[in-house]
Amino acid sequence: MNRDRLKKLASDERFIAGIYNYCDRWCERCPQTSHCLNFSVSEEEFSDPEAQDMRNEAFWKKLSGILGEALELLRESAKEWGIDLETLASAEDEENIKTKDAAAKNHLLCRVAKRYSELAENWLGGRETLFFETAAAAREGVRIEEAVEVIRWYQYFICAKVMRAVRGNIDEKEEGCADFPSDSDGSAKIALIAIDRSIAAWAVIQHYITDGGQEVIDIIAFLDGSRQAVEETFPNARSFIRPGFDEINQARQKPEWGV
Ligand code: SF4
Repeated sequence: MNRDRLKKLASDERFIAGIYNYCDRWCERCPQTSHCLNFSVSEEEFSDPEAQDMRNEAFWKKLSGILGEALELLRESAKEWGIDLETLASAEDEENIKTKDAAAKNHLLCRVAKRYSELAENWLGGRETLFFETAAAAREGVRIEEAVEVIRWYQYFICAKVMRAVRGNIDEKEEGCADFPSDSDGSAKIALIAIDRSIAAWAVIQHYITDGGQEVIDIIAFLDGSRQAVEETFPNARSFIRPGFDEINQARQKPEWGV
């Protein structure tokens, strides 16, 4: 995709600005694909079978091409604003960034979120296919594999978003930008949504399995504790309005997918 096409798409009014910043990246389940620039670019660029194949060289070439065009656009915009991107970060800045990255990584919330992904892996590893055909679930029309799919989707996503929220919060405290919606609250909100959905999915599994139920209860309790800790650290996260997903009276809003 060339720069002009990218610019034209970016100015298309059907797209909601920044919608992809606080989504869960699960495009297959997303009710807002037609309003997402990110999705449209991917569809346009990777629609032919060859380009869709992650292993195909064409995929990576195209991705690299989009990145190059996006960087050029960024440089153009920076120049218009009188910003020299090459001299933005000094050695001192870089050291400061490293220190803040390390602080975020060692933050209790991040360690807890990482631990959850390990707990989920330990329990699910090698077990997933064993209970797909649970007779009781089938009788009641419940597909346990869907619950597993939800858990798998968010298993590492939660940690990534908690980390982003914690890291962003460190910058926000330093910069004191209280006039803008807080990016860390937005990241914490999508992490909380992912935790809510994961808890619901684990509850489905717990209801139908006959083996390992106590461990699942422990995982749910662990996740619930994590949820409370995120809410306490980011008290405004639940009320953060995510573009396209949370706005009220938005004519094009469709109901959000839930477990
Ligand atoms: S907003 Fe929806 S379509 Fe866009 S990147 Fe996020 S999940 Fe995918």
